[in-house]
Amino acid sequence: MYRRNITHILTPLGSVLALIIGYHLFLKPSLVARPAPTDSKPAETVEAVAPPPPPPSSRPREDEVKQVRALDQTVIPGTPHEALLEAIRDEIEKHNLPLAETKLAGLPAAVLSDGKTKPFVAILWNNLGLQLERLHGTPVAVKAFKKAADLDDSNPVILLNLAHAYWEQRDRALNQDLLTKLIGLAPDEPFPHLAMADLLQEQNQLAEAAKHLGHATDRARQDPAVQSYLASVAAKVRRTESVESIMTTRSSTHFMVKFDGAEDHGTWTTVLEILEEAYREIGQKFGHFPSKPIVVVLHTKDSFQTATGSPAWADGLYDPILGRIHLPTQGATTDTKWLTNVLRHEYVHALLHDRLGTSSSALPTWLNEGLAMQLAGDAWLELDQAMQGGVKVIPLTYLEGPWGALPAAAATLAYLEANSATHYLIERWGMARVDELLNAFKARASVATALQNKLFVSYEQFHRQWLESFEQKRT
Ligand SMILES: [Zn+2]
Repeated sequence: MYRRNITHILTPLGSVLALIIGYHLFLKPSLVARPAPTDSKPAETVEAVAPPPPPPSSRPREDEVKQVRALDQTVIPGTPHEALLEAIRDEIEKHNLPLAETKLAGLPAAVLSDGKTKPFVAILWNNLGLQLERLHGTPVAVKAFKKAADLDDSNPVILLNLAHAYWEQRDRALNQDLLTKLIGLAPDEPFPHLAMADLLQEQNQLAEAAKHLGHATDRARQDPAVQSYLASVAAKVRRTESVESIMTTRSSTHFMVKFDGAEDHGTWTTVLEILEEAYREIGQKFGHFPSKPIVVVLHTKDSFQTATGSPAWADGLYDPILGRIHLPTQGATTDTKWLTNVLRHEYVHALLHDRLGTSSSALPTWLNEGLAMQLAGDAWLELDQAMQGGVKVIPLTYLEGPWGALPAAAATLAYLEANSATHYLIERWGMARVDELLNAFKARASVATALQNKLFVSYEQFHRQWLESFEQKRT
């Protein structure tokens, strides 16, 4: 009886997110038109990606990354403002960033109207942005990249850095116009095509998205592993396109629901109502609302299995690559309670994916599933009841990665444990602290570090106290 319930989310491809690929592809462009600055030693903290890793060998070395993204600021154009610019450059090199920023912001208008100095000031802003990003993260750096691009939007590296920062932030400013411009400036780069594909698939233009994925694949030649991965994503998008092109679509404010067309109007309305309610209620508990409409695909039994590759007994799944919730319609018309649970559960996965963006893979599966179960209000047997038979718990450390390969009995136990541990977490520390944990995972912290820094307990302590809490319940 649990079987139907246990595989709400199978993420067969979830360990390798398209977003992460894009990020890494971007970081190794072949754009180094200028020599690297001499102070390019410090590692990019932003590169500390938690497991599971992106596809093989797509991760560039950190110093390599820094070199590609920084612009040469050694040769200052000979103008009356040379000394002023030199002073700012030195402050950046000495990492006196607030001072450099103040001086840059206070440059006289004459410097900015001078055609010779203006592109150099743009380079200074760009390099300041890189330093800020390294020390304080992307949100702090965006403003500097924006200044750089405002001053010189013909420099491909500057525009790539800005686009990358927007991408990291899931900022809507990374729009079709900016990407079209970037494609023109950096025609050999896979990243703008990948970002464009992402944007187009969000807008439900799957055929166009597949085309850009194809372009990205062609341009990823230097890395065969990434290239073959991109090719498989492109194929997936084309397959989805062919399945969904014959579907009917109806949208509410925050969702786009597609289905085979044979379904009645009532189901459609019910699905949208459940989702909008989940949007409000779970969003409030969470303090987060999705940055874009979420696509929900209702499949007939056959098309669900074909399109998602999931086993016959799966109830639904969230596909992080195409950002879609998939659901078989079988049962949807007759069992509203089931429908509500599955939709809410998958919605939490979608929300967490949106919340963590490129860092989604840092979130341990037990917490991802546990939050989905807790916030969806899944009616599950309590772990303490399930444990009556003397079953041994699987340590949470084993439940951080994908669960797709777990045997059915272990998967059931995994869900029960995830639910129980997350329940304990929320009850003891509250949702605000859970939110803090999510911030840590967004910064790609390990589970041990996140727990230590945000809950002030070690992973071992957390584990022991959680087990003790349900031991007490049993007695
Ligand atoms: Zn799930």
